[in-house]
Amino acid sequence: MIVSKFGGTSVGTLEAMQRSANIVAADENRRLIVISATSGTTNDLVALSAATLDSTMREELLANIEKRHLEIIEQCKNKEKLKDGFYTQFSELREHLDFVGRDKRWKDRLYSFGELMSTKIFVEVLKENGVDAEWLDAREVMKTDSTFGNAEPIWKSIQKKARKHIQSGKTYLTQGFIGSDIFGNTTTLGRGGSDFSASLFAEAVGADTLEIWTDVAGVYTTDPRIVPDAFPIHEISFDEAAELSVFGGKVLHPATLKPAIRGGVNVRVASSSDPEKAGTFIVKEAEKKPAIRAISLRKDQTLLTVNSLEMLHQHGFLAHLFKVLAENKISVDLVSTSEVSVALTLDTAVNAANKVELTDKVLEELRRFAEVVVEEELALVALIGNNMQKTSGLGGPLFTALENYNVRLICHGASPNNLCFLIDHDQAEEVVRMLHKKFITE
Ligand code: ADP
Ligand code: ASP
Ligand code: MG
Repeated sequence: MIVSKFGGTSVGTLEAMQRSANIVAADENRRLIVISATSGTTNDLVALSAATLDSTMREELLANIEKRHLEIIEQCKNKEKLKDGFYTQFSELREHLDFVGRDKRWKDRLYSFGELMSTKIFVEVLKENGVDAEWLDAREVMKTDSTFGNAEPIWKSIQKKARKHIQSGKTYLTQGFIGSDIFGNTTTLGRGGSDFSASLFAEAVGADTLEIWTDVAGVYTTDPRIVPDAFPIHEISFDEAAELSVFGGKVLHPATLKPAIRGGVNVRVASSSDPEKAGTFIVKEAEKKPAIRAISLRKDQTLLTVNSLEMLHQHGFLAHLFKVLAENKISVDLVSTSEVSVALTLDTAVNAANKVELTDKVLEELRRFAEVVVEEELALVALIGNNMQKTSGLGGPLFTALENYNVRLICHGASPNNLCFLIDHDQAEEVVRMLHKKFITE
């Protein structure tokens, strides 16, 4: 059995939907299809949830969403039925906007409309292309905790529910990104979460393969939008691909590979507009193991430096610091320490899968025992590869290559699969292009 996930651009227009439907139709083992919202829709929904929205903006965003979906529907055979269905959802969405300010629960419900609308249309497009798929409400299966906006899946419940709602031999179409908590409230798995959903589904149904169909022909050596010379990687290990996605390779949501590894599911990433290209196979053990395979970049990073002279020759400073951060659900990426100070980086990017909010409350708590400096507009660059902690001769050329740049923090040695550093926002893309040219060969 194959679980196939199609991202926003793969279902963003009727042509894209048709190409994706053809892919599904080409192999009868593709029996669980997971799709995202049409591209741009989740961004519009997020914008709609902003507290500061005026009514002109609101109508504009709603009009975008309506237009995008109607353009697809108008070209479908079954357009009258689809239109009725769409306007039922659309007026629910409109009514829902009045509640969004009340609490976090309503935002997730609002965001879920994107995937609910796209799946209602795509199920018809699949039918028109000879695939009789049953529409499955992902919230019946994708059980999560109640951390709205970034819910944690409860995989035992997911497995149980999958057994109940997914029968072997049938084909299903469902939504990525959305789930529900034990009270039945709609939850979401964080931006870009459809990949993660698909992987959880693949694990739950015991699939052999998970396919991630997107707008690029696989996992590239770096984001091809930044480096035109980047090229697709034929085969990469789970460990490397996981690091790449955690450190900003948007092609996969950072948590995607965990369920696949647990379930022994093979993963393939490929382009829905170029399906004959093999794409990337993510495997347990890759045949080639270059020291540097890829580079990833994460923008909008924050550097927090915490300094406490009182802590000189005292113990418990780090424990105390991390306790405050943990209590405030702040996840930390890189850490560098000296006797009395600690520098750490936080992912504060707007569309981050695990976006961190450094609130005044947290800063206040930290300032009770330390001096705190916050620096923004930084970027995190990560070199991804193999045995990096043991590869000699890596540091020299790298430091030489970076000698004209202002490197703020370096982490090397903790992971065999990455070496990363923090750099000014404005220099980041240039640095990635330069490093790609110097260190990555086909
Ligand atoms: P989807 O909507 O299909 O989930 P995304 O936009 O989330 O697609 O992810 C695909 C995009 O990820 C690509 O268009 C590319 O710009 C970006 N990307 C970043 N890093 C990489 C990488 N290393 N390999 C491939 N794509 C990458
Ligand atoms: N539609 C959601 C988003 O844009 C989930 C996804 O596309 O993976 O974040
Ligand atoms: Mg994505």
